[in-house]
Order: sequence, then C-alpha cells, then structure tokens
Amino acid sequence: MIRFDKVTLRYPGQDTPALDSLDLAIHAGTLTAVVGPSGSGKSSMLRCINRLVRPQSGTITVNGNPVDSLDEVTLRRATGYVIQDVGLFPHMSVGDNIGIVPSLLGWRRDRIVTRVDELLDLVRLPRAWAARMPHELSGGEAQRVGVARALAADPPLLLMDEPFGALDALTRTH
Ligand code: ADP
Ligand code: MG
Repeated sequence: MIRFDKVTLRYPGQDTPALDSLDLAIHAGTLTAVVGPSGSGKSSMLRCINRLVRPQSGTITVNGNPVDSLDEVTLRRATGYVIQDVGLFPHMSVGDNIGIVPSLLGWRRDRIVTRVDELLDLVRLPRAWAARMPHELSGGEAQRVGVARALAADPPLLLMDEPFGALDALTRTH
C-alpha cells in the first residue's frame, strides 16, 4: 500500500506548489489511474514515491515504511518506473535496457536473456531487436521497450507515467 499524508511539494522558485497537501491511499493489488490536466502534478506525485524529488512536508509510506527511511537503491530496484520521456539508456542495446534491473539484481545471464525474450513478445517487438540501439526505434517502439524494462524484474510496485502516449489504439489495447 502506498499512502500520501498531507504531502506538499514546491519546486525551487515556484509560487504554486506542484502538490498541495495531497492525501491519497493506493491499496495493494490495485491498479490506480491518476487523471488531470497537463501541469497538475501527476509526474511529480510519481517522482515523490520513488524519491526522485522530496516534498517539503507530509509523509509518503510504502507498506507502512516512510520512503525517507528506505534505502534509495533498494527502493528503486523494487519499483518499476516508466518515465514520461521514456529515458532509455542511449548507449545500451534494447536487450540491455530491458535487462538492467535483473542484471543489477545479479540474475544469471541465461535467465536474463529468457526474460528479455518474454518481454519483447509481450510488447510485440521481434526478439532480434534485443540487439538494436534505442536510436533505431520509433517513439512508440521506444515506449514499449520502456514498459518492458519496468516489468523486467516483476517489481512489487509499478509506476507508469503516460506509458502508452505514443502508441496507436490497437497496440495500447493489447
Ligand atoms: P503533470 O505530470 O501532471 O503534467 P508535473 O508534475 O510535471 O505535472 O508538473 C507539476 C507542476 O510543477 C507544473 O506547474 C510544472 O511546471 C512544475 N514543475 C515540474 N517539474 C519541475 C521542475 N523540475 N522545476 C520547477 N517546476 C517544475
Ligand atoms: Mg507528467
């Protein structure tokens, strides 16, 4: 469960807070979608959960533990995150991008290769594309690799920031 308790986030030099005393509970085993206009704080909210930004006041807990008290690396490895601008590592192949968290977790090479194949199937990209570089992908293809990367280690927590924005309706539905 993720809980926001009176969370206020103000970026330096901004008059209006990006998050203003936000209270929110997201229960385990649920899929929660946050809807709001551009600039309403959706991405900021996700960044707070993963501690990419730190609110000035309030608390955020994951399974009862304040994210402030959690080890940053453990927190990020336990969290799949599809960032809004995709953010594939440009110098790494598609396969290495997808396998980055399993690799950091110390999975064996053959297990990583199998998992990368499974995920390429899931997001409907050819397995051979594991060898491609990110600059060889269209926007929608890169976005699908970003989703595959976030799912790779089957994280207990999955944060997705407009993950299907560049996809056509058929692919998105799939
Ligand atoms: P959304 O994802 O809903 O479009 P954001 O969370 O990206 O909204 O942004 C919320 C508000 O915070 C906006 O007014 C935006 O301009 C501002 N903002 C976002 N990131 C920064 C930043 N790094 N520095 C200053 N202001 C920011
Ligand atoms: Mg956003």
